Amino acid sequence: MTEAITIIGGGLAGCEAAWQAAKRGVRVILHEMKPHGYSPAHQMPGLAELVCSNSLRGESLENAVGLLKEELRRAGSLLMAAADATRVPAGGALAVDREIFSAWVTERIENHPLIDLVRGEVADIPPEGIVVVASGPLTSDGLAERIRALTGPNLYFYDAIAPIVTAESLDMTRVFRASRYGKGDGDDYLNCPLGLEEYERFVDEILAAEKVAARDFEKVVHFEGCMPVEEMAERGRETLRFGPLKPVGLADPRTGEEPHAVVQLRAENREGTMYNLVGFQTKLTYPEQRRIFRMIPGLENAEFVRLGSMHRNTFINAPALLAPTFQLKGDSRILFAGQITGVEGYVESAGSGFLAGINAARLVRGNEPVVPPPATALGALVTHITNADVKHFQPMNVNYGLFPPLEGKVKKKERRGRLAERALAELDRWIGIL
Ligand SMILES: Cc1cc2nc3c(=O)[nH]c(=O)nc-3n(C[C@H](O)[C@H](O)[C@H](O)COP(=O)(O)OP(=O)(O)OC[C@H]3O[C@@H](n4cnc5c(N)ncnc54)[C@H](O)[C@@H]3O)c2cc1C
Repeated sequence: MTEAITIIGGGLAGCEAAWQAAKRGVRVILHEMKPHGYSPAHQMPGLAELVCSNSLRGESLENAVGLLKEELRRAGSLLMAAADATRVPAGGALAVDREIFSAWVTERIENHPLIDLVRGEVADIPPEGIVVVASGPLTSDGLAERIRALTGPNLYFYDAIAPIVTAESLDMTRVFRASRYGKGDGDDYLNCPLGLEEYERFVDEILAAEKVAARDFEKVVHFEGCMPVEEMAERGRETLRFGPLKPVGLADPRTGEEPHAVVQLRAENREGTMYNLVGFQTKLTYPEQRRIFRMIPGLENAEFVRLGSMHRNTFINAPALLAPTFQLKGDSRILFAGQITGVEGYVESAGSGFLAGINAARLVRGNEPVVPPPATALGALVTHITNADVKHFQPMNVNYGLFPPLEGKVKKKERRGRLAERALAELDRWIGIL
């Protein structure tokens, strides 16, 4: 009998990882601290608890999370089977009855002959054997300290996410390329110039906008260099102009002058298909973000692939620390899975658990770990967490901006369908060799 793998955390990633490893004939010891200890957001004793919304988001392949679900279904995911078996009507989304969903998964895990479920908090990472850390965005404090011993400063306790827009949705006649004082490559940033009146109106709207209230356990967050944009506006009408909207060193080549204020956009990926709004981490509600940020010159028709947010969230700087196989570069017997790797969302967490579980099983059996094809949704997630900019890494939902571009010219309205078609064809080939 091969040795057992240890999985820490019976959430979405941990359960999927345990199932995939056990399905491949490997014994699993799955540790879950509930019901002996609860994070500030968990309430149910069962496994795979959905802590907030009961929706696993859109079903359509026009949406990258719809594609990710379809890939996981085809590849034999436990959590997708649970979701399909416990769904409730939700229009174009896949929503579930969270209690039945958790009970369904718990029953399968508890009854699997190769999985030992151990209830109780894990205080340290076992010194030997293959370990998958899937303790989630609210990892217990003691374990987080032990993780920090492995990661050093590359472990974070909250995310401060600025919105991201697609490059193709920008009005390039209104923005100009430049870096402050021509530093770096000189044209690393796209700059959206605001005149005095545009700036004043923008500040008014931000001050009046609806904000998301922080939950009690999120109020302890120290924002330091990551203050929300609306909090800066509240400190004074000029604060933004001396902060993220600072125009100095950014002369507009069309006028030769520095605008009154400038919103800078920085490339989010190497292909330059997505840009983030620099310094725009925010707790404005999603509809308010769409409305107000589209007032920025050049962003009138912006397509947002991610909106801003600020949450308590334990995650590692995956591009600095993880190999595409989810193994820690510094200690390859330790794998990470779930939200702690910097994927964002229920389905994304399950997807990373799926891959980490397969690789943990392969390692125990002495096989090479695998990486999904980059053109699949699973592969796009891997690319994000291992290839993103180490200095600005923030968690991300799956989205079509993360996929390698299609070859040749493709009409915009056909693009997503073609990306999904290509992904599923590659996925089918890949699962054939797993
Ligand atoms: C407040 C909040 C709301 C969210 N809302 C949504 C949403 O609406 N939609 C969405 O798609 N995503 C949401 N997310 C993001 C994310 O999708 C979920 O957190 C998801 O559950 C992450 O899956 P996971 O497996 O990584 O972690 P979890 O599902 O949290 O699983 C981790 C498990 O590890 C256990 N654990 C922790 N520490 C230890 C330890 N030391 N020993 C043993 N067990 C331990 C926990 O009890 C938990 O069961 C939210 C996150 C948070 C924090």
